[in-house]
Amino acid sequence: MATRTPLMAGNWKMNLNHLEAIAHVQKLAFALTDKDYEAVEVAVLPPFTDLRSVQTLVDGDKLRIKYGAQDLSAHDSGAYTGEISGAMLAKLNCTFVTIGHSERRQYHGEDEPVVNAKVKAAVKHGLTPIVCVGEELAVREAGNHVGHTLAQVDGGLEGVPAEGVAELVIAYEPVWAIGTGKVCGEEEAQEVCGAIRGRLAELYDEETAQQVRIQYGGSVKAGNVAKIMAQPDIDGALVGGASLDAEEFVKIVRFRD
Ligand code: PEP
Repeated sequence: MATRTPLMAGNWKMNLNHLEAIAHVQKLAFALTDKDYEAVEVAVLPPFTDLRSVQTLVDGDKLRIKYGAQDLSAHDSGAYTGEISGAMLAKLNCTFVTIGHSERRQYHGEDEPVVNAKVKAAVKHGLTPIVCVGEELAVREAGNHVGHTLAQVDGGLEGVPAEGVAELVIAYEPVWAIGTGKVCGEEEAQEVCGAIRGRLAELYDEETAQQVRIQYGGSVKAGNVAKIMAQPDIDGALVGGASLDAEEFVKIVRFRD
């Protein structure tokens, strides 16, 4: 069975300008030790306007922290005002890019074909997609959370070849738990994450499914992360609000302590 290194990624959303970003990454870098980086992959996902500053800091100080973007365009270049391409993110040495975050789905109408095109664009440019999936409250209350989430996995990965899949990350983020303080119970989260891994085995093969990292996201904090991480199919957390507090995020990285 594959050993998957946990990935703790901080989604800053539309917070912290480029100067604040530098100060925040410096705080993280000061606190994190080689022991932390050996146990966990740590990443920050700042707004686009911060990425160059974060890159300069990471390169200049040879930091082991990784970084990425919160979205990308499905297109490579051209008349797409306001968009940022995968090539541009790759040029900034981004490792990760979140795709299909529920806030993109909700406020920008992103659906499975859009998510799928963006996943393909990310893979093409050597970025690791963090594909976000998860159900709204009404879907969970109707008991359709597993089917709904698996349909998002199917749609998001359609036509993505196995070589592009083993590296990617799927973030299971029940929409009702994002930014609300309501955490999904660890067994409920495991139910869906286990089903996602099962679906990856059907779509690809067991070996590929065992390599993919599946994160949980939704009101993760230092106080609840250990229980979530104890689940067999949860390989990390996508952390929103709590990632803006450097001390709290470091505690999340040290979930085993
Ligand atoms: C997120 O933005 O992906 C997220 C999970 O947010 P929060 O941790 O604030 O719920």
